[in-house]
Amino acid sequence: MRRARKVKILATLGPASSDPAVIRRLFEAGADVFRINMSHTGHDDMRELVRRIRDVEADIGRPIGILADLQGPKLRVGTFADGPQTLKVGQTFTLDDDPAPGDATRVHLPHPEILASVEPGHRLLIDDGRLQLKAVKTSRRSIVTEVVAGDRISDRKGVSLPDTDLPVGALTEKDRRDLDAVLATGVDWIALSFIQRPEDLAEARKIARGRAAIMSKIEKPQAVSRLAEIIELSDALMVARGDLGVEMPLEAVPGMQKQITRAARRAGKPVVVATQMLESMISAPVPTRAEVSDVSIAVFEGADAVMLSAESAAGQYPVEAVAMMNAIAEQVERDPLYPGIINAQRSEPEPTGADAISLAARQIGETLRLSAIICYTASGTTGLRAARERPQTPVVALSPVVETARRLSLVWGMHCVVTPDATDLDDMVERACRIAQAEDYGRPGDRVIITAGVPLRTPGATNMLRIAYLGSDGASHRG
Ligand code: PGA
Ligand code: MN
Repeated sequence: MRRARKVKILATLGPASSDPAVIRRLFEAGADVFRINMSHTGHDDMRELVRRIRDVEADIGRPIGILADLQGPKLRVGTFADGPQTLKVGQTFTLDDDPAPGDATRVHLPHPEILASVEPGHRLLIDDGRLQLKAVKTSRRSIVTEVVAGDRISDRKGVSLPDTDLPVGALTEKDRRDLDAVLATGVDWIALSFIQRPEDLAEARKIARGRAAIMSKIEKPQAVSRLAEIIELSDALMVARGDLGVEMPLEAVPGMQKQITRAARRAGKPVVVATQMLESMISAPVPTRAEVSDVSIAVFEGADAVMLSAESAAGQYPVEAVAMMNAIAEQVERDPLYPGIINAQRSEPEPTGADAISLAARQIGETLRLSAIICYTASGTTGLRAARERPQTPVVALSPVVETARRLSLVWGMHCVVTPDATDLDDMVERACRIAQAEDYGRPGDRVIITAGVPLRTPGATNMLRIAYLGSDGASHRG
């Protein structure tokens, strides 16, 4: 089961895709990692989804990544006595600490710490920006606003505060409960929503204790302004364009996407481009041309993965959406302009053995037109550095650790195979050559390049590079 593309596809599971048969079809259509959105999934359903994904994984025999996306401090207004309310531009509307149901003049904002930090002039964007308010008078108990645009508000709509530094960490009480539950099921990645500062990662990292890797969702201007530090502390990034496009001018998002993608690539951290990629496929079997362009841009930029949200979770065409993404990715990566665009964004190696060898492996692989780079990686670090080179030669990552293989399934170009540690150098070469052929990455007479750290299992000690011929016995030629 070999993919004909380097970029990975992340598909969110939900009501449209919880059935084991559908999960399997999503994988076969191209989904490499499944996302469980904890905003919409209870613990029992989450555990059942994880079980079903692991069943598909065992059935197909390929490692599959699972990402649990925590809701984070999503702010919402309270409820209204008489349902949805119609407001007028220019009128006054108050958010306050009174839990009584709201009306056309006021509503409860059940976040006392937020009431205290909004200042006059700050914007309040309700319901993904459909209603825009501006604070005119604030106190510890209420925010008096003026309606700037839009006219509707209803129960429990979301509130975005692009101008306010929120005195909240990235984990709510619900997130802590969700985090414990998802870690107990052995998910591979945790996504943190609405982080604002590097410190916001610390608590989740401490709770996870290495059991899952941490992905930071960049969806607030405050996070953008501290991007470098956040990248440094994260295992991966997500360009969360939905909320980013509410909190920043929409026209700023494409540039932001490029900036985040490039910074993550430079750091060798996987980066996911997310949200509304094939939005119209929620209710139509084909996307718009603009959506196809949008996916293609992320692929041309060398993002590690592109993501589907409602398209696969709640739409009418989940499998078609994944198949469409797969088709776009394959076509872009076959485009004659693609290698040049990818190469133009390549970063210099850092002065480490892993980077020097990854660079050499790419150059040798491309010069000799080798059929694969086979990379031994126990922790995944060497795999990440190999991917950072964005080699045209396919990369097969061999790891004795199934968790590593699952995590790397998110990473650009990584075809991961779980295999026990090699016993010696001969075994390492034999094993690499055998797996390359079994996984369809070469035929007798083809050559591959093998990279490893010897002795094996010494993290960061990549120090070996070897070219080998694939033999007709399924292993390597000797001599
Ligand atoms: P969400 O995050 O789907 O959890 O909101 C992604 C985004 O905001 O784009
Ligand atoms: Mn979001």
